[in-house]
Amino acid sequence: MIPDSLIEDVVVQMLRNAVTKLPHDVEDALVRAHATETDEVPRTQLKTILDNIAMAEDAVTPICQDTGVQIFFVKQGAVETGDLVEAIGRGVARATGEVPLRPNTVHPITRANHKDNRGVRMPYINIEPTAEPYLEMTVMPKGAGSENMSQMAMLTPSQGIKGIKQFALDTLVRAGGKPCPPIIIGMGIGGSADISIHIAKEALLRPLGEHHPDPDIAALEKELYEALNEIGIGPMGLGGRTTLLGLAIEYAHCHTASLPVAINIQCWAARRCTARIHPDGRVEYPTHPGGA
Ligand code: SF4
Repeated sequence: MIPDSLIEDVVVQMLRNAVTKLPHDVEDALVRAHATETDEVPRTQLKTILDNIAMAEDAVTPICQDTGVQIFFVKQGAVETGDLVEAIGRGVARATGEVPLRPNTVHPITRANHKDNRGVRMPYINIEPTAEPYLEMTVMPKGAGSENMSQMAMLTPSQGIKGIKQFALDTLVRAGGKPCPPIIIGMGIGGSADISIHIAKEALLRPLGEHHPDPDIAALEKELYEALNEIGIGPMGLGGRTTLLGLAIEYAHCHTASLPVAINIQCWAARRCTARIHPDGRVEYPTHPGGA
């Protein structure tokens, strides 16, 4: 059995990794964007972002002051665990003091703050059973600037692919520079209202540069990525070639009378960390192989 205390310790390390060092695919995409920008203003913005990332990694301090709310995706393999939800919550509370994380989590009406990033349904934990011989947890600290620009629409089936493209364009134009571009778009198509939003966020877990295995979806990802990058919002909304670092789509079959579409926006600080805990106590961090 994997002890709760180990899960709690791993959650603290995952959060330290996530908020102080971006995964390689995100950092590489920012480096490429800097190399291809030709205008001075967007190049300067990207250089500032890259300098900031390097300083945060050196000092092991958060990349951005908004360390988000903590969203977990857990793959519960064929291993025994105790009170997983409580152990993750304790890890988040400890990380808030030890990393530190900004205490962002509040009651939605009273705005009361427990100061430890815990609350009702927070941290938010998605659990999926798998047959793997280990427990895998991914945390996505999600900042408000990008989350606030996310959108969901119940299109009619007759609006079809044209409606989906128009919705993506409208969402991006409305967002402008507010979500701290260059951004990553996670898109969920189909299912129901709640499923489309859920899979839009799941799409943000896919490493940049990887496409959906369905060739039609992969083609739509490439088309939308290229078209939306032409808009010219640019790094931090100051113009330039790089508005998007990536765009990933997940889909689900839906009711014949529905076409739900959701867009979850992620800022350049696209933080995520994955940990695998084996029954013998070994822990791997595939997104942060060298540690934070
Ligand atoms: S949107 Fe992202 S980069 Fe901008 S303040 Fe929020 S977490 Fe930081």
